Amino acid sequence: HKLLTPPHVAIVPTPGIGHLTPLIELAKRLVVHHNFSVTFIIPNDGSLLTPQRKVLEALSSLSISYVFLPPVSFDDLPDDAMIETKIGLTLTRSLSALRDSVRVLNESTRLVSLIVDVFGVDALDVAVEFQVSPYMFFPSSAIGLLLIFHMPHLHETTSCEYRDMPEPVQLPGCVPLHGRDFPDPLQDRTNPAYKAVIHMCKKYGSAAGIMVNSFVDLEPGAFKALKDQGRGIPPVYPVGPVIKTGSIDGIDGNECLRWLDKQPNGSVLFVSFGSGGTFSQEQLNELALGLELSGHRFIWVVRSPNKTVKNAAFFSEGEENLLGFLPNGFLERTKDVGLVVPTWAPQVEVLNHRSTGGFLTHCGWNSTLESIMHGVPLIAWPLYAEQKMNKVILVDGLKVALGVKENKKGIVESQDVANYIRDLIEGDEGKLLRKKMEEYKEAAKLVLAEEGSSTKSLAEVAQIWKGLKN
Ligand code: UDP
Repeated sequence: HKLLTPPHVAIVPTPGIGHLTPLIELAKRLVVHHNFSVTFIIPNDGSLLTPQRKVLEALSSLSISYVFLPPVSFDDLPDDAMIETKIGLTLTRSLSALRDSVRVLNESTRLVSLIVDVFGVDALDVAVEFQVSPYMFFPSSAIGLLLIFHMPHLHETTSCEYRDMPEPVQLPGCVPLHGRDFPDPLQDRTNPAYKAVIHMCKKYGSAAGIMVNSFVDLEPGAFKALKDQGRGIPPVYPVGPVIKTGSIDGIDGNECLRWLDKQPNGSVLFVSFGSGGTFSQEQLNELALGLELSGHRFIWVVRSPNKTVKNAAFFSEGEENLLGFLPNGFLERTKDVGLVVPTWAPQVEVLNHRSTGGFLTHCGWNSTLESIMHGVPLIAWPLYAEQKMNKVILVDGLKVALGVKENKKGIVESQDVANYIRDLIEGDEGKLLRKKMEEYKEAAKLVLAEEGSSTKSLAEVAQIWKGLKN
């Protein structure tokens, strides 16, 4: 009777709302367009479960269910452990619980595939154990994926820190990448995160296929290289942009959108640094003063400053955010042009609004794709993870963003912030970036249309899965 039931897919997201979001959209497409049912099996450390549960619960009318695995503990880790270390350990410490869950699913459904995302490669072994097809959803750029396959070689053939390499790495068909722009865990060979990432890179080849959250017209060179290189690279499927389509529920009355309704077309800069980004007090002040100096309209999603890291909000709900940390008088002086929003805004709806003319972003890949889908040009201000690499793609490769520069102390100064904003919103360069963005927006629409390349790629994967266990 199992053959009569719809094929079932298990999805194992690594921590981070930015990882869960596109996987949820992927799940919806599999259910709605391809008649799959889906179970999310979620490794976690016990934090940030409420927002996740809320989005997942909203899916219960579709054939999408979820289970949280028992939370892992980080008590034994040093205070300065990198988020990549924690993300990786969340998964490896959950493997035996995952195995139990997969066993149950495999007995009760026609389980054809298990999908993991960027840090989930060790879970691919569990899929294989149960003769379930091991797949990967890569939530970042095709260039990023190409770099992952290149890293083991680079690791063997260099001994210095990558940031000290005199020449950029030239991956075939891609924009040159300096070592200093590599993802964070590759910046220090002595950090445990480095070893873990190299191990991870070596295991990517064990996926039966890799779906990438990007599209051919955005990164033609990288996708061609992923195909041509053959050796050790599984079939790669460009299925993106897979992004949040926006939730209408409860959003209509949102303060940001009501405020945007009252502003002129294309006049507002949206300022937000993803789900985890934070600044030092000094940097926060410079940003605030820069916004003020620019004289332009803005919505700024702010979080309490953090002295030591740039991703303080990633694993924790943060303290109550009372805005007392903003420069004296800032709110009063900018009240006619600016809206300051503590912690979270409906980003997709904001980017979709006619009044939004630019986005000052940390270059998270979801934010990048959301901007492309809505044709909004960018100021690229990367903070952590692979964001510096995304900045290079956006500024040098796609030419849809202005990149910020830090001073010798690593601070982006207020005067510069003001200049970037003016250049983007009213300058000639901004016009060029906007035009480029519009082109990518059109291309993105086409790849997602019924006969579009990304739609077809996902259909191809679905077809392969449907043929399994028949
Ligand atoms: N997001 C949002 N409101 C906010 C901040 C973020 O809706 O105030 C959403 C954003 O639309 C995106 C995700 O959170 O879908 C952030 O993902 P991204 O990859 O850009 O960055 P990350 O949070 O993973 O660093």
